[in-house]
Amino acid sequence: MLISSIIAAIFIFGLTIYERWRWRVDYQQATWQTWLTFPLALCYVWASLIAPWWLKIIMALIFTLAILTDYGYRAAFQRPFTPQDIITIFTPLDLEIGHDAMSMYFDRWLLPPIIAYFILLTLPLAPPQPLYANLILLAMLIGHAMLYPVSSPTFPTVSMASFCRALIFTLGELMTEDNSPRQPLTFRAETAPRHNIIFIVDESVRADHLSLNGYHRPTTPYLESLAQRGLLYNWGMAMACAPCSLLSNNLLLCGLHQLPDPDFQHKKWPTLFQYAKAMGYQTHWFNATSNQFWLGTRHDKQHVDHWWPRSAFQTEPRYDIDFTLARQLATHLSESTGHFIWVNKRGLHFDYNSHYPAPQATWTPTQFDPKNQATIANSYDNALRYNLDTFFQTLLESNLLQNSTIIYTSDHSQTLSEHGETWTHCYGQPNELGCATFHAYRPTATP
Ligand SMILES: [Zn+2]
Repeated sequence: MLISSIIAAIFIFGLTIYERWRWRVDYQQATWQTWLTFPLALCYVWASLIAPWWLKIIMALIFTLAILTDYGYRAAFQRPFTPQDIITIFTPLDLEIGHDAMSMYFDRWLLPPIIAYFILLTLPLAPPQPLYANLILLAMLIGHAMLYPVSSPTFPTVSMASFCRALIFTLGELMTEDNSPRQPLTFRAETAPRHNIIFIVDESVRADHLSLNGYHRPTTPYLESLAQRGLLYNWGMAMACAPCSLLSNNLLLCGLHQLPDPDFQHKKWPTLFQYAKAMGYQTHWFNATSNQFWLGTRHDKQHVDHWWPRSAFQTEPRYDIDFTLARQLATHLSESTGHFIWVNKRGLHFDYNSHYPAPQATWTPTQFDPKNQATIANSYDNALRYNLDTFFQTLLESNLLQNSTIIYTSDHSQTLSEHGETWTHCYGQPNELGCATFHAYRPTATP
């Protein structure tokens, strides 16, 4: 037992030195909570050394997952893994995005700690002590749970501790979350609406890369032609309230535009769906990003009359899903009015090269390498040119859409690594917020 605890302490000390060197973890910013997490991480390793073989396997898998996620987030954002990351990973559940992110931020430097830990687990240090191993693990979990009310989820610490912290803190947040219903609306319109409103939330479209907004490459010639014909009113750039899809969409849903939001008002204010219902619209959510109902709270589904998950638009190649959605939307509204439709496009989430056919690359070379800004911009512009114009052409020129007005915006912008950023969004710099936004009409419609 004593030798095992000493070896566990040496391992955590070595891991700390390694991560300080590899990820430049700044312990000058450390708080007392930081120092408390080191013995908790040590407890984990110590328990695994004296655990029976089946528990060793489980703990080895957890350690591998901890290194994989924590090093991925350190590579992308220069910060440890947090509860918000867990919620973001699991809520929209878009496996393609997850796969792209993992392949982009996979770091070969995660291998040395994993190999070292696996070797350590095979050493015959002590006979298995299931009772003590479980008690030590329990102490570690209780220690993290006690940290929850008195610390933020992002203070610097060693990877194993930050992963366990994120898991426990997520549980804490879910348990203390206010799940009461939203504020109700008492108003009811007396006349039925005679037109449709389509509210489109795109994914990762930055305003300054649309030629509609003066960008030097012709990325949106069709939208420009709409503007010249007086069928599109361009609002230019709007600033997203949050740099990450989930929070940004939820703020758009209720109109809250001030952060921080410590009282979770974005889960209490009435939603656009509630306002639309009050005005007599039939409400729809067309979602090309997921099969899960991830928008808003669990109370919000009752205000959505028709829910269209990603599987409703499944198509090959996958990057054409937005066009299938546009066709189905136009067909559904054929000669029909009185609908409010919220649309989430698949849009341009990185890796941008997976959003357009390679032969249609207008600007080359294309590569997703944060160290090469020009190639990232080429990829992004190719994806933008392929996706956005074709989507609106499909939607507006089918001659099916009647009396419809379209409000378009994006959930957030992208960095495109202009200043050497390793991340695209979800960090919080101003250049992640500038979204394209405009108001378009179906060509023969009455606005
Ligand atoms: Zn997004």
